[in-house]
Amino acid sequence: MEDRIQKIKDQMKKSSYKLTSQREATVRVLLENEADHLSAEDVYLKIKEKSPEIGLATVYRTLELLTEINIVDKISFGDGVQRFDLRKEGANHFHHHLVCIKCGSVDEIEEDLLPEVERKVETKYDFQIHDHRLTFHGICKKCKEDDQQ
Ligand SMILES: [Zn+2]
Ligand SMILES: [Zn+2]
Ligand SMILES: [Zn+2]
Repeated sequence: MEDRIQKIKDQMKKSSYKLTSQREATVRVLLENEADHLSAEDVYLKIKEKSPEIGLATVYRTLELLTEINIVDKISFGDGVQRFDLRKEGANHFHHHLVCIKCGSVDEIEEDLLPEVERKVETKYDFQIHDHRLTFHGICKKCKEDDQQ
């Protein structure tokens, strides 16, 4: 955890930003709930438990800033809610997601499965890829097993 905080601190410094205590509180909540794909309101409610002085507007601004400098990615899973997701360490592109249409669970695929597709797009469409979003919709392992019982 402290290790990741330090790395994020360095990353911000490279973009000429400081990890102020308010920003750090936001980053900590994202780290502690990494698997949960929190919305700005979720982040705010969790921060409030420990640092009630931090307002929603500050949380919004911090999340936007973290997105701008590629520490965080924004993603929506079709429910109209914007969620904030930490970029994996050392990853150039955003990780993929598996969304279960039955129970709503969200899992992550950390490896980038797309290099071959990316090469094809870059040559065939003469398009330089910077990033991508890939979300698979289907039935998760647990729901599949429940079904079979
Ligand atoms: Zn994710
Ligand atoms: Zn990729
Ligand atoms: Zn499921």
